[in-house]
Amino acid sequence: MTNSDLQHLRSQIDEVNMKLLKLINERGELVQEIGKLKGMQSTKRFDPVRERAMLDAILSKNEGPFQTSTLQHIFKEIFKAHLELQEDDHRKALLVSRKKKRENTIVTVKGETIGDGLQRFVAGPCSVESYEQVAAVAKAVKQQGVRMLRGGAYKPRTSPYDFQGLGLEGLQILKRVADEYDLAVISEIVDPADIETAVEYVDVIQIGARNMQNFELLKEAGAVKKPVLLKRGLAATIDEFINAAEYIVSKGNDQLILCERGIRTYERATRNTLDISAVPILKQETHLPVLVDVTHSTGRRDLLVPTAKAALAIGADGIMAEVHPDPAVALSDSAQQMDIPQFTEFMKQLKPICNLNL
Ligand code: PEP
Ligand code: MN
Repeated sequence: MTNSDLQHLRSQIDEVNMKLLKLINERGELVQEIGKLKGMQSTKRFDPVRERAMLDAILSKNEGPFQTSTLQHIFKEIFKAHLELQEDDHRKALLVSRKKKRENTIVTVKGETIGDGLQRFVAGPCSVESYEQVAAVAKAVKQQGVRMLRGGAYKPRTSPYDFQGLGLEGLQILKRVADEYDLAVISEIVDPADIETAVEYVDVIQIGARNMQNFELLKEAGAVKKPVLLKRGLAATIDEFINAAEYIVSKGNDQLILCERGIRTYERATRNTLDISAVPILKQETHLPVLVDVTHSTGRRDLLVPTAKAALAIGADGIMAEVHPDPAVALSDSAQQMDIPQFTEFMKQLKPICNLNL
């Protein structure tokens, strides 16, 4: 074989490579089109019956020199790569994803920013019980330099016979106290019909774990101009959590904060299992701020400081914790709320670790 023969063959190979490149990308574009159709119809993307039929058709026409098993392997790789292309496109399309928006979303709550790199705190009682109870907590919260007060007016309780919250009266108490102490209010709304009223009283609408997939509530919260804090569902995967967030943002409200609050596992030592790795995953996958609720995830006062330290170390944008003037008589979550001296100690331990100058 002469040198020029070799060169000729090589240039033919180069041409075939270019043809293959074109064909593979052409196939990719077709697959993307199919992906869009499937996305709309939410049909499962992977279709083994269709793959088998395609493989059979290809292999039946094989005239060599490749063996069937080799071709099967090559085509399987092509199918796989194209399926991934569909899935990538689907993910890319999520408005909450980092792929869609690289910069962090900064949520502004009554002048306070969340997601700007500084670590914030949200504290307050589990439920609003009275003006005096909320005011006592607000005073302590304010003293610690914390600017966001939480409190439940509508309580989604496991038992229908347990305290269900003061409702609108609870929101009114929160607003009065927040005005007096110049704090922002975060409170849970459970009924889509209450969102419109709630925006007059709260600075952040909380959607609780039990309602993470209440899609009508998510859509309603997405349609108002008010920051939303979305908690991870009791048994929700990160993917389900991200998609729940997408419901809100896709309705036009990008002022969204995510909150990891523990998930249900077989472990009974804690009320829930704090999925600490969800924090960096959510920060990588989405551009939204991520808080960690140490109270509901652990259900144990003795674990609040170490879990909050872990959350700060792993890069959470803030910590949520429950505080009550007298937890022993609290109408909900009596066993896990801190009293005021415990809260003062909690903040004392965390202030040197968080990057916010309190
Ligand atoms: C709450 O924060 O008041 C609450 C009920 O928490 P979760 O929805 O996470 O259980
Ligand atoms: Mn609670």
